[in-house]
Amino acid sequence: MSASHLIGLVGTGIGPSLTPALHEREADELGLRYLYRRLDLDVLGLPATAVGELLAAARLTGFTGLNVTHPAKQLVIEHLDELSPDAAALGAVNTVVFTDGRAIGHNTDVSGFARSVRLGLKDASLDTVVLIGAGGAGVAVAHALLTLGAGTLRVLDTDPDRREGMAAQLCERFGAGRAEPAEDLAVALKGADGIAHATPTGMREHPGSAVPADLLRPEVWVADVVYRPLDTELLTTARARGCRVLDGGKMAVFQAVDSFRLFTGLEPDADRMLRHFDTL
Ligand code: NAD
Repeated sequence: MSASHLIGLVGTGIGPSLTPALHEREADELGLRYLYRRLDLDVLGLPATAVGELLAAARLTGFTGLNVTHPAKQLVIEHLDELSPDAAALGAVNTVVFTDGRAIGHNTDVSGFARSVRLGLKDASLDTVVLIGAGGAGVAVAHALLTLGAGTLRVLDTDPDRREGMAAQLCERFGAGRAEPAEDLAVALKGADGIAHATPTGMREHPGSAVPADLLRPEVWVADVVYRPLDTELLTTARARGCRVLDGGKMAVFQAVDSFRLFTGLEPDADRMLRHFDTL
């Protein structure tokens, strides 16, 4: 590992991302020379397909690695030399590390969500979990939950191809019957232990909740991936109805923790990064 680090974040609309500040503050604490730059495709006037050119430029100019976000997590794959098992299974990469001239893709959204569940939903039953949203975040959440030992995942998405495609892909990796597509939320929630929400609903730009309040039973835990705001309408309602809740902030922090470790080879202080996140 080199003694100084240059990292980039590739994606669109990444101006408000808290990831650069999280990385740079932790690097300061560890006494590292560490610069984290936004490479915003919108600002650069580039299409998402230009991710390959950006990757080549970053490799050539000595970047340690890149974080990659919407809409380039899948597009970046064809430009990489190697994938971690999670990244290969998902077909999505959010972290690229340049090592010995090779570009290696990882997915720390999976490990980040898994760690947030281990911390925030300790001992919660994962027998039957309802996943709402089979997009980029949803696929990471699904792989994390099944890796953690979830029995069955009921996958809802307003897009039938997405829910069916994801359920089939999950059964291929984790075994028949571990995931099934579901159309009706009320039916899917019968006998469920928890809800993992992974649609944009609840963000400032997409207010509301994907789960009607009367479907929230107090014995069901609720995890939201949305983290701007941390207290989404879904979590506020769930809390008021007595449900155990997990906000999306921990996933955001732990994906940064895991990327930081991959970039530097050093173990960041996760508790310190969680505290820092709370101040941002
Ligand atoms: P996406 O567009 O890739 O996927 C969203 C999916 O939800 C789509 O398949 C869409 O059809 C489905 N959907 C939308 N409304 C629905 C509804 N009411 N019921 C069922 N399905 C519905 O989006 P994404 O990239 O997966 O992002 C989703 C959210 O996750 C965003 O708010 C994003 O900020 C957040 N996110 C958080 C983290 C984190 O670290 N906490 C990481 C990644 C993404």
